[in-house]
Amino acid sequence: MSRLLRLCCVLAALTVGACTSSAPSVPRDAASAGDDAMARDAAGADAEAATDAAARADAASDASASAPPVRVVLMIGDGMGPGQLEAASRFAHGAPGALAMHALPVRGALTTGGPSGIIDSAASATAMSTGEVTENARVALDRDGRRLETLVELAHARGLATGVVTTAALPHATPAAFSAHDESRHHYVDIAAAQVRDVRPHVMLGGGARYFRAAGPGSQRPDEGLFGELAAAGYALVEDRAGLAAIDPRETARLFGAFADQHMTFARERAGDSREPTLTEMALTALEVLEAQDRGFFLMIEGARIDMASHGNDLANAIGETLAFDEAVAAVRAWASAREGVTLVVTADHECGGLEVRGSSPAGTLPDVGWRWNHHTNARVPVFAEGPLADVLHDEVRDHRWVHAVLRARVTGAPLAPPPRVAVPDGRLLDLRHEVARQAVESSFGPTHNRLDALRLDADRYGLHVGVEGLFEWSANALVVLIDVDFGAATGHATLAGALRDRDGRADAVLSASRLDAPPVEGFGADFAIVTYGGADPQLGERADDAGLRGLRPPFGRPDDLGWHAAALNFGEGVRTRAGVPASPLPGEGFEAFVPWAALYPDLGGRVPPGAELALAVVLVNSDGGFTSNQALPPFPAGTASPGRARVALPGVARFVVDADGDGVADADRAPAVLP
Ligand SMILES: [Zn+2]
Repeated sequence: MSRLLRLCCVLAALTVGACTSSAPSVPRDAASAGDDAMARDAAGADAEAATDAAARADAASDASASAPPVRVVLMIGDGMGPGQLEAASRFAHGAPGALAMHALPVRGALTTGGPSGIIDSAASATAMSTGEVTENARVALDRDGRRLETLVELAHARGLATGVVTTAALPHATPAAFSAHDESRHHYVDIAAAQVRDVRPHVMLGGGARYFRAAGPGSQRPDEGLFGELAAAGYALVEDRAGLAAIDPRETARLFGAFADQHMTFARERAGDSREPTLTEMALTALEVLEAQDRGFFLMIEGARIDMASHGNDLANAIGETLAFDEAVAAVRAWASAREGVTLVVTADHECGGLEVRGSSPAGTLPDVGWRWNHHTNARVPVFAEGPLADVLHDEVRDHRWVHAVLRARVTGAPLAPPPRVAVPDGRLLDLRHEVARQAVESSFGPTHNRLDALRLDADRYGLHVGVEGLFEWSANALVVLIDVDFGAATGHATLAGALRDRDGRADAVLSASRLDAPPVEGFGADFAIVTYGGADPQLGERADDAGLRGLRPPFGRPDDLGWHAAALNFGEGVRTRAGVPASPLPGEGFEAFVPWAALYPDLGGRVPPGAELALAVVLVNSDGGFTSNQALPPFPAGTASPGRARVALPGVARFVVDADGDGVADADRAPAVLP
């Protein structure tokens, strides 16, 4: 029996409540700082306790006699995509779809792109916590840096109790987005302080003691640490599994446990006598403590390290962490089934690693898998749920803001408010308002390779959105979007053929080998090009060799040294193909790029020139850039064969007035026109 399978047996043997076992009792303040800090802040603790009591009384008087208290649990498997679930299910049960979470009655999917392209945990958790999209790395702040109200704060305002539980360090991105605000997820020391002083969930359990400890060995803090403040604020402090097990929920209004210096140990690597509690034990203790307050609660529980294992393409730990998370789901569900009206939502923030299971394997053996790389991908993630309002997630493809919408409606009692349309580079193109052109010729590259079916455009005050429906072959061919940022002005390249001489990097080489002339449209000159070779999908701010936004002329770049600028590129579900594998395009899915205005108009501080009008043309070329397909948008005339290596003029452009009212803020209300 493998070590991992043994763990599964151990996990499976856990039942609800089993974590409160015969562990020896330790003092509440075992992890706290010195006595003087506690004495100094004793008055604060009294005030805190009074506030809690008042909130409890308020919530109790609000609730009608018959309604059960609001109980809302969100469980997030960080980095837990379809591949992680399938691998874990096959390993534990010999079949896909056999995990505890698969048995939840509501099953749907969530897209995972954000304004930065492929999303990270901070932006995804912010969407779930606040209902707003934001850039990667931001913690409960919007794209303009403004503070967003988190579900924890919303719950506090309604008199509910709250908790965050994680197997990562407590100030790590996902719990942080529910319990702090910061411009960067990497500000762990500040985030820990915000968790303790600012947002202050009633229960905080996880790792990351070094961000809370007083300055010295084993601490990242420069100050006297946060344990004294926690104790003074009425938190029971625990530092190990025995301490957690000794908690009396009825006597514990606030609970803090940091059980590891940094992240908690991978479940399958823990010794039998580990001092760290399991995720299931933390989750159940949190539920008991919050329930005992008798005023309703919101609790976020994260299985954080599925992602970390997947970054390392470490299959055994990715499976072990997924199974440990699933065990916690089973325990929470069992807890919920004994109560009325609990809403439970289980999902992931994003996939990590591009994990694909290749074929079946018997239970207890690691399945044969492939990993795309060691970063996040834009794969859709599953969502499972049950309880009041969860149905809205059933059998639908939604985004993470919908998780917030459901939980918010539960926490506030207000009707569910569907999130508004927002264009983000996620490869789903129907949220781009303007369909500009449709393809007129069949792709000469063949049905399993590339085709460009339609061009969609949009713009908002943040930037330009370009969407191309179609199919895109992995590791072959390149999509080129020529952009004229000042249509009508005599700038930019009227021909690319022979004009560019930068061969450093695939994208630059593709442009420099171009055989393209500008379309026969007066006033068009290419200032920038978006290039993506072979399905490459860099995030905003990431500089990639084979894809991105390139400046073609001064001041954006030089013909012999193209400028590299910020853009987020992404692809929809299932539109990237493999040679020889038949594929069909999916309506509304394709390539999507977001280009911030600051990249195209660098001197305007994120605004556009008053009355700004752009012109764009899209074309598909081969891997070296010198061979042109018959796939362009606006399209070549019906029946056009591939120009191949002959020099060719593109057939037309889309003229896009993005600031018709001339106020310097793009709104793009007017539909683009196709010229000539
Ligand atoms: Zn990650």
